[in-house]
Amino acid sequence: MAKQTDKRCSFCDRSEREVNILFTGLKGNICDACIENAHSLLIQAVSDKTESTSSQYKPELAKFKQHKPKEVKNFLDQYVIGQDDAKKVLAVAIYNHYKRLSIPPTDDVEIEKSNIIMVGETGTGKTLLAKSIARLLQVPFAIVDATVFTEAGYVGEDVESILSRLLQASNYDVAAAERGIVYIDEIDKIGRKSDNPSITRDVSGEGVQQAMLKLLEGSEVLVPPQGGRKHPEQKMIKVNTTNILFICGGAFEGIDKMIARRVQTAAIGYNAIKSSKNVDRTNLLQYVNAQDLRTFGLIPELLGRLPIVTYLNPLDKDTLKRILTEPKNALVKQYTRLFEIDGIKLVIEEGVLEFMVEKAIQYKLGGRGLRAICEMILTDAMFELPSESHNGKFVLTLEYAKQIVDHAKIDQLKAA
Ligand code: ADP
Repeated sequence: MAKQTDKRCSFCDRSEREVNILFTGLKGNICDACIENAHSLLIQAVSDKTESTSSQYKPELAKFKQHKPKEVKNFLDQYVIGQDDAKKVLAVAIYNHYKRLSIPPTDDVEIEKSNIIMVGETGTGKTLLAKSIARLLQVPFAIVDATVFTEAGYVGEDVESILSRLLQASNYDVAAAERGIVYIDEIDKIGRKSDNPSITRDVSGEGVQQAMLKLLEGSEVLVPPQGGRKHPEQKMIKVNTTNILFICGGAFEGIDKMIARRVQTAAIGYNAIKSSKNVDRTNLLQYVNAQDLRTFGLIPELLGRLPIVTYLNPLDKDTLKRILTEPKNALVKQYTRLFEIDGIKLVIEEGVLEFMVEKAIQYKLGGRGLRAICEMILTDAMFELPSESHNGKFVLTLEYAKQIVDHAKIDQLKAA
């Protein structure tokens, strides 16, 4: 006798006994096979939709607010101190990049992408510049470290996971990610290691550079949503990189010697730098070009896809002091606000800022170290004052600052 409860799938009409699992709803049922079918149809539909929005010209981007180069520079000035040359170069590149997206492609002139490479010591503001640009444009932004990638088949991450970060930043909105900005840090660390061509394979050097080409030039890439290594069963998301702006940065330690050598030769031959007498030898990075990056170990194909090269100046005393007080979210402003919330006025005496700057220079901490120094000096006060009776004021004297820093373990600062 057929039981009255013999439920059937509302989609394929198979009975409960004919399927593995039957899910019961209020007004209908669905079996495991139908769920699987529906799921693959759904994946197909999503990927078709992505494909149809993946052409280079996006009419909706025509409305994307274009910031004139001067506007970009003015905006960057609020967050980044100095680095005027880099700001100008970036401002123009950004303007051209988004201008390119807003015009329909014509047959005769195809404007190429303006991916950028920034060369400068660590802690001089490369990441901050890239981050500030994303803030201005309000596009998804991801920071990735080039050193975690290795050639396919080796331990490490696939380069496609660069885009996983961007997808995560855009909450998996593929269309938004496709006009985002990626900052690839430590690009210098994947230089070709020409000295040891055979013994160990150069899996994290030239191989990674090769793998990055496809991403940088603009193509459809299958991205593992969670990053890491791709594996066959994983569902991939198709991302078109044509409109993604890639900004790479690196310290390129030792490149100054290569520049010096080139500048020397150029002075003998006939080139842009006409006389070696006019060369500012204290800051050779300002003359960096693609040729030097190639000597350093980046392959020409990669450099071809990073057509804009710029540099950052090392931070001098004056710039470091300005970093403490001037940017919109300057450290001094941040700490003043933190104290203010507890009803305490933070007063910094003459000489304290100079002292912090000197320490940052002495221990080669760069802009990044300033925060660690501030934190070290103010931690005790921030710990004690909120639960003590105070007179609504905390005066940070030079003597107090010196006493704390001199007793601190400097490794603590370096690790910050
Ligand atoms: P990197 O060049 O290594 O990418 P970052 O941009 O990460 O350096 O800088 C580290 C921190 O140092 C920033 O978050 C910022 O607080 C400070 N900093 C460095 N350079 C500047 C600068 N030119 N203007 C303002 N702040 C800076």
